[in-house]
Amino acid sequence: MKSSLFSLVEQALLTLCVLALCNRAVAADRLSSDSRPQFHPLTNAIPDQGSLTFHSIPGARWQFRGVLGQRLAANLTNWLLRAPSANPGMIEMFRVRDRTPAPNLVPWAGEFVGKYLISAIQALRMTDDPALSKQVSEIIRQLIASQAKDGYLGPFPKEIRLKANWDLWGHYHVMEALLMWHDATGDEAALNACRRAGDLICRTFLDQPLRVFDAGSHEMNMAVIHGLGQLYRRTGEARYLRMMREVEKDWERAGDYLRAGLDGREFFQSPRPRWESLHDLQGLLELYRITGEEKYRAAFEHHWRSITRWDRHNTGGFSSGEQATGNPYAPGAIETCCTVAWMALTVDMLLLTGDPLAADELELATFNGAAGAQHPSGCWWTYNTPMDGVREASAHTIVFQARAGTPELNCCSVNAPRSLGMLSEWALMQSTDGLVLNYYGSGQFLGKLPDGTPVKLICDTEFPLSGKVKLSVEPTSPRRFNLKLRIPAWSAKTSVRLNRDFIEPVHAGRYLELNRRWRKGDIVEIGFDMSLRFVTGDREAAGKVSLYRGPLLLAYDQRFNDFDEAGIPTLDLKRLAEAKVNLPRAKRSSASQLLEPWLTVDLPGKDVQAVRLCDFASAGSLGTRYRSWLAAENPPPPPVVTRTPADGASITTSKSWFKWTTKTNSLLSDYRLLIAETPDFARPLIEISGIKQNRFVLDADQKQRLAPGRWQYWKIISRNAHGESESVRPLARFKLDPTLAPAADDLSNGSTEGPGGVLVKAALRGSPQPEFGQLKRESGFKPAAGPDGQPGHAAELNGQNQMLIYALEEFPDENYSMAVWVRFTQLPENHLGQIFSAWAASMDDPLRVCLDKGKLFARIEAQQGFSTKGVAVEAGRWYHLATVKADGQLILYVDGKVRETATAPQFISSMAKGFALGGNPNFSGNEFLAAQFAGFAFFGRALSAQEVASLAAERGVLVAPAARTE
Ligand SMILES: [Zn+2]
Repeated sequence: MKSSLFSLVEQALLTLCVLALCNRAVAADRLSSDSRPQFHPLTNAIPDQGSLTFHSIPGARWQFRGVLGQRLAANLTNWLLRAPSANPGMIEMFRVRDRTPAPNLVPWAGEFVGKYLISAIQALRMTDDPALSKQVSEIIRQLIASQAKDGYLGPFPKEIRLKANWDLWGHYHVMEALLMWHDATGDEAALNACRRAGDLICRTFLDQPLRVFDAGSHEMNMAVIHGLGQLYRRTGEARYLRMMREVEKDWERAGDYLRAGLDGREFFQSPRPRWESLHDLQGLLELYRITGEEKYRAAFEHHWRSITRWDRHNTGGFSSGEQATGNPYAPGAIETCCTVAWMALTVDMLLLTGDPLAADELELATFNGAAGAQHPSGCWWTYNTPMDGVREASAHTIVFQARAGTPELNCCSVNAPRSLGMLSEWALMQSTDGLVLNYYGSGQFLGKLPDGTPVKLICDTEFPLSGKVKLSVEPTSPRRFNLKLRIPAWSAKTSVRLNRDFIEPVHAGRYLELNRRWRKGDIVEIGFDMSLRFVTGDREAAGKVSLYRGPLLLAYDQRFNDFDEAGIPTLDLKRLAEAKVNLPRAKRSSASQLLEPWLTVDLPGKDVQAVRLCDFASAGSLGTRYRSWLAAENPPPPPVVTRTPADGASITTSKSWFKWTTKTNSLLSDYRLLIAETPDFARPLIEISGIKQNRFVLDADQKQRLAPGRWQYWKIISRNAHGESESVRPLARFKLDPTLAPAADDLSNGSTEGPGGVLVKAALRGSPQPEFGQLKRESGFKPAAGPDGQPGHAAELNGQNQMLIYALEEFPDENYSMAVWVRFTQLPENHLGQIFSAWAASMDDPLRVCLDKGKLFARIEAQQGFSTKGVAVEAGRWYHLATVKADGQLILYVDGKVRETATAPQFISSMAKGFALGGNPNFSGNEFLAAQFAGFAFFGRALSAQEVASLAAERGVLVAPAARTE
């Protein structure tokens, strides 16, 4: 009875909402406040305990013009309006879920409709297209109608509902879409459907001895915590919060986001650095808003800052091979879903902190990584938008996701438009005392002051093609409020005039606050610094630079040059000022201009030959090859990343290390360390020049200049003959804590590297004690005869519970080598036997040399496995073994000769703080090896073949195998 009455009311409300949307669509003045229908977003049942700095503006309206306006229009016409009818299985898969044969779907298929709707509902804030509002309300209606009696809203058969696949992940997206629709329209049916899905989740995982953990695909399914948080704040239903708490417990066995965010671990070193985890991190913000507990906020901020520092690419995109790796130069795929998740996380960061750097990140990602993922026609989006390469449609790269009825649907095609849709969440925001303008493209924005007064902002500009912006501020009646204008960090010199009066000073990387009584007719004119600038690359991009003009990344494209990639001239950075910028002659209006670049830039090359670059968003759009990392003559050093103290750490007031990443492949003069109380370093408290290594011990006297308990920001300036580079942003910060004990590190010796780059050297002549390096632990051994036949010249391990564990301050990240004499006393059966292993965590073993089914292998586990082929060995004879990780290669030497090679990742980010001989240092299972060891050394560099050969010869002539048999 009750439910049927409800559904009648729902129907009526829904009809009203559809009518309201249609009315809105035909309103004459699309942004005038009086002619638009009023929206009534439900006030949250649970007010925030943890407060946000900025807020999205409920009911705000947007009209984008200019280059992004064109992209939004193309997305509307050629994707949003077209996709549901061309891919009707989006909804139909929900209806046939219990038919036979059981549907053969990708495990995440349930997300498609939710992802589509999220971006379509965002688009409705930015367009008044009646066809789209009609279509979205119809899809919502069909989606709700497809909900099972028990509340299930997925495409999988009854017996496995929510318990397998990425079904909770699919529900998360559908729930978010329903809540957004409810917020936009007041549609109670949408909120009710969302609640019923939430109730089913609770019945399944609270009322039964079953946990979300048991559903598998942890970082995906546990992201439902973000959806549950939004639902809880709107409804106040205690069970949703209880469910969140249980997921929070399950996190500890999966991504461990809270603890990993508090103990200083970088995100790429956290247990689940895949991109889906970013939606779990959004759950941290929900927990902060709900509880007000500082730890959630701290963990959230730490992860965001870590990803920005270590993993954000030059395009503003995120992920290398679908996850964080700590190397933004890595050429792995930059998946569109990953960039979308990164942008969603960044919108949250901006709301939480009001840090203008987060808005800078959104601008960079929107104009480059996101616009580059969209084909300018709006017909398709990429799966991968590489820094250098080609642009492929996602329906092409990941066609394996296509099914009958959903030929174009995949995780990225449905998700990608959200990257543009999020403009409606960050372009203009509300602060407690006014409005915050983050976006400067052409358009009109209608927002509201905290007191409800509508304010229209009209942005008259060609930005980002031009740096001139004319902003008209139009409150409906004169009002005092604070208008915060984002001054991007990239704009070194910015001029701002208010009604013709210059405003000074204007600081890059901060908000300029104009707190005054505003009235219609007030004009702000801004001039941004559009001079070309560059960022030096490192690692795989060493010797190269990325060029930017304003927020736009520039790229070589075959289309605009007669030569191919190999012929790109080396850039002369001293002549950047001679570059010629070619802007389109006419205003962009017609669809035929879609394939024209936004702009091109002619650069002088090293010789006379010039190279023509275009905006990254247009590069490769004809299928041509492009590059955004360009070789340059004599670049300044690449920016380093600060490492120790970890960002956000508390440190002792006694002496301690400061460390940062090393430069690779570039000549460097020195480093300068600066510490200040403010991130702009207006007054550095400590400045130390002439540092030659990537580390420095700051002593207690120097630390006395720093006030305990306050944030201290620090940065490193690297210098070479051609210039300076600052460490990457956001700059790391730490606090001095006088209650902390002095650092345990051995600070007496600045060098942890011995002669010849050796990190650990142990002759093992009857003792595990190393001649260089540190023995961490030994679990038993006995002296044995060595390869030279002399008694006591080797150490023997029993293969049952004995191993020798040596400490490393950190595992080398690029090149390293291991050499050892070994004699197997027994080959392991039915298990691995480790000669050498540095295993630290799942898929984190930067080097293991092991026996597997009677054969010898050299292997690396770094997110995926790498292995040489096996070499047959026998027990009872001495072998000299060496493995060399040199750039992208892993080489296995036996008795001084190369026996096998394998490809390996160029760079490795490992948590290993040591390694074991004869076992696995951190694994409780049996990987022990019964063998005698002698003449061991581990180097932080690649040994040459000659060096390996001489090590193998060091003990004199190898004894013939027959002679060694006992
Ligand atoms: Zn995807």
